[in-house]
Amino acid sequence: MRKETIVENLNAVGVRIVTCCNNCGRNPSEITLLAVSKTRPAQDLRIAYSAGQRHFGENYLQEALEKQDALSDLDIHWHFIGPLQSNKSRAVAERFQWIHTVDRLKIAQRLSSQRPGYMAPLNICLQVNIDGEQSKSGIAPQDLVALAREVVKMPGLRLRGLMAIPTVRRDACGQRKPFIELAALLQSLCRQFPDQTLDTLSIGMSRDMEAAIACGATVVRIGTDIFGGRNYSDE
Ligand SMILES: *Cc1c(COP(=O)(O)O)cnc(C)c1O
Repeated sequence: MRKETIVENLNAVGVRIVTCCNNCGRNPSEITLLAVSKTRPAQDLRIAYSAGQRHFGENYLQEALEKQDALSDLDIHWHFIGPLQSNKSRAVAERFQWIHTVDRLKIAQRLSSQRPGYMAPLNICLQVNIDGEQSKSGIAPQDLVALAREVVKMPGLRLRGLMAIPTVRRDACGQRKPFIELAALLQSLCRQFPDQTLDTLSIGMSRDMEAAIACGATVVRIGTDIFGGRNYSDE
């Protein structure tokens, strides 16, 4: 994509975040913009980086590792946000700062034991299946506390919060409902684990970013509105 377009898009998203924060009485410094760069060439990430973007989210492990190699001269914070098969956990443990999609004990155990001792613990969000859809990944809300109780004991992990990808809804009210539920789940986790730094609510994509910020998002994951529409046949 054209350099000017990516930079303009990034600036426009930044303005939307500030405007939305002003409207709902939040401080924009509470929001981290995660640029979701799946299917994008390394050059597009380099352009966004040159405009000040530091946090990038990737969904496909092999593709992500290739971009990490191509961009190893940059100080990027890498977030894994795709579904993870347990036999591929090692590369995430060794090469990312964050993973947002942990939804079962086995993956958490593997990530913790595979995290190299010389690195800081891997920051993780537990992904919650907030709509209760059978087909979706994410842990059921009623099973969340039991998983969190195990994860907080794992030396290679640092539990930071919750993530969800709700069903697409067009109206602002419908978009907010699952976000409000997730925010309440995070609050109750904070009460149950008071010595943890549970400061992260990873919600909001291009289509529902404003609703997410209004409901307490601290990380918004934006792809299309920064890098343009994706060609799904390439994914
Ligand atoms: C692709 C993706 C995004 C970004 O979605 P856009 O609609 O392009 O902003 C955010 N989160 C996850 C988990 C994704 O897979």
